[in-house]
Amino acid sequence: MAKKKKSKSTSTKSAPSTPTKSTKVTVTEVTTPIPTPTPIATPTPIVATPGSASELDYWRFTDQIYNNGDRDSTLNPDTSGLWEYAPEFVPLSRYDPRFNEIANAFHEGWIHQHKRADIIAIYHVDEEAFCMWQHGQKFNRYLKSTYGWTRPKLKFHGTTRACAFGNPGRPLEPCWNEQCHFCCILWRGFRLETAKFGGMFGQGIYSSDASSKADHYVKNLHNPFINQPRAILVCRVVCDKPQRVVGPDYHRRQPDSGYNCVEGLTKKDGGTVRYPETIVYREDAIAPVAVVIYEKEYIKAAKEAP
Ligand SMILES: [Zn+2]
Repeated sequence: MAKKKKSKSTSTKSAPSTPTKSTKVTVTEVTTPIPTPTPIATPTPIVATPGSASELDYWRFTDQIYNNGDRDSTLNPDTSGLWEYAPEFVPLSRYDPRFNEIANAFHEGWIHQHKRADIIAIYHVDEEAFCMWQHGQKFNRYLKSTYGWTRPKLKFHGTTRACAFGNPGRPLEPCWNEQCHFCCILWRGFRLETAKFGGMFGQGIYSSDASSKADHYVKNLHNPFINQPRAILVCRVVCDKPQRVVGPDYHRRQPDSGYNCVEGLTKKDGGTVRYPETIVYREDAIAPVAVVIYEKEYIKAAKEAP
């Protein structure tokens, strides 16, 4: 749960004059009307505006989140219906078959030669909590209508993280920082309105079998150093009817009739992309179910394959 910010106590002059057992009140001392208590102002969410004073506050605030593991909100959960619930994530033991499945997919999908990755931990969504989650319900409904509960594919999605979710010793609780796209997805699921504009295959939600390709988009917003743990989302994706396209289509907003996703053909297969990508154009066609925390290091160029 979010911790409340510490605040200095307000002046007792404006406090209601209700007597308590421990306070002696002499009625005759009250010779002037009791001033109307000043209403306590509603805290204004801190939103970064480039060049404004609040930008500095914002950075102090997010540093606090990162360094102290403290949590507070830059969003107002009271006015945003979908921010009420995020599914719980639990650590997977290395003996858990799901750990092996995800770890194998991660390592097999790590196809870039100039960098390597070591898994620190894998967290998986609690299935019951997933079914109660609003986005999980939408996903399951769509999955059932398409697959009839056949298993969806697992793919990787990299995005920006502004907190320390999943880092060793840190809580598995998504933050409420609007800049943390990672936690926004854990709260609200994927949103087309925030999907990538100008993407090679239009405004859709991109994921990949190639973990090292998704790693390209993984970013620790406040601690971008290479030796910091990184977090990648593992998603269930409804993509059993792919439309394989050769060239880019920046204005695409859906696959052609009869398909439920777009796949860019790699150069090896006569297409234009270097690494496989899958794009869905509906929010309920993709949902995060696991998080891989890993460390990355670059290998010297001399060791790269020619
Ligand atoms: Zn976060």
